[in-house]
Amino acid sequence: MDAARLKLSWSQVTAHGDQVPLYFYSTLFLAYPETRQMFPTGMAGQRDRLVTALGHIVSHVDQVDRLVGFLQDLGADHRKFAVRAEHYPAVGEALLATLRHFLGEAWTDELAQDWTDAYGLVSQVMMEAAQAAEAVHPPWWVAEILTHERRAFDVAVLTVRPQYLLPFTPGQSIGVSHPAVRSWRYYSPANAPRADGTLELHVRAAPGGAVSSRLVYGCAVGDQIHLAAPVGDRLTLWSAGSGDLLLLAGGTGWAPVKALVEQVAAEGSGRTVDLYVGARSRSEFYDTDAIDKLASSYPWLSVTYVAGSDARRPGEFTHVADRALADGDWRSRHVYVCGSDEMVGHSVAALTRAGYHAGQLHHEGFGKQWYGPAWRTVTAPDDSGGVR
Ligand SMILES: Cc1cc2nc3c(=O)[nH]c(=O)nc-3n(C[C@H](O)[C@H](O)[C@H](O)COP(=O)(O)OP(=O)(O)OC[C@H]3O[C@@H](n4cnc5c(N)ncnc54)[C@H](O)[C@@H]3O)c2cc1C
Repeated sequence: MDAARLKLSWSQVTAHGDQVPLYFYSTLFLAYPETRQMFPTGMAGQRDRLVTALGHIVSHVDQVDRLVGFLQDLGADHRKFAVRAEHYPAVGEALLATLRHFLGEAWTDELAQDWTDAYGLVSQVMMEAAQAAEAVHPPWWVAEILTHERRAFDVAVLTVRPQYLLPFTPGQSIGVSHPAVRSWRYYSPANAPRADGTLELHVRAAPGGAVSSRLVYGCAVGDQIHLAAPVGDRLTLWSAGSGDLLLLAGGTGWAPVKALVEQVAAEGSGRTVDLYVGARSRSEFYDTDAIDKLASSYPWLSVTYVAGSDARRPGEFTHVADRALADGDWRSRHVYVCGSDEMVGHSVAALTRAGYHAGQLHHEGFGKQWYGPAWRTVTAPDDSGGVR
């Protein structure tokens, strides 16, 4: 396989922009109409995600050793879309037809063979991982909404009970989908695993967001939603040893951080934890009762609320990390940061400037998602603008 040739041909194809996914999906759905149900009801949000991911992965097949873990996660994760082994050749066919269409005369027999081989390798790793995952957990869990509380105009806190136990580690995220929307997004359980298997989810409705709006405005107690296997190791505690912690949470980034606090409480390890919870304004703290209860229950936990904007300081914005840095020197601690991409980016930059090193900073932003469960710390190549 000539990797350089694959990459060059892929860049020539992507130059055609939106035409590429359009052609790909039309070809796929025309030849294999049954695959349409694997995609969201509204395809606008899907846009070029799958095609971009496919092309990118396949054209980087020369780095397959680095990609293997990522592809295995991707294969196992795709079971939630009801993807089965027979769908892989269908997608491969549509991909090759798309390449042939846009490359025109540049589509030679050799190039066709390279793409066939590369796709074959990638899909084989994914299919094997999907098969292995079958023995471990179902493709998705049906869960009933037990409580649904609107805590702010755009934030809801839900308690859900999956039909079977859904094991996860605090700090991880799980896939969530509503049957009427059929798109999957990640949300972070806001609790340590419970004996009754229930999960708490904190959801902020993104303006125009398909899944979050449905979960906040269009769901009620008794409704069913779908959950998928947990992903992610960025915010889990295992890499932080047993030392003291600084936790920085912004908005619904509080959810996985709350799970970490509960885990520390459950493990009884004697860590000292300083928690900074941020919101854009005072009225946007949506879980203060629970936070105050945690603070009053555990002497090892100190809580500071940071309202970004304050009517008394018009035009100013206080970031959680800046407040924490002003309050103390935490360089002997592991730091966990979760919130919007903007909040996380600002925090990591400020902490790094203040002398904190990458190995002690654990962070996850809730913003733009690449395709699939790209939450392994070692993931796909990131020359396409990043894989996360
Ligand atoms: C690891 C991880 C954990 C997360 N945990 C949580 C959590 O615990 N709580 C939480 O609230 N969120 C969490 N998120 C964010 C969550 O996964 C969703 O991204 C978020 O809820 C928005 O999803 P959505 O389907 O509502 O919006 P989407 O439909 O994906 O849209 C997102 C934004 O893009 C815009 N958009 C949509 N379609 C288009 C289009 N075709 N063209 C241009 N713009 C468009 C929308 O207007 C919207 O503002 C997490 C994210 C990650 C990556």
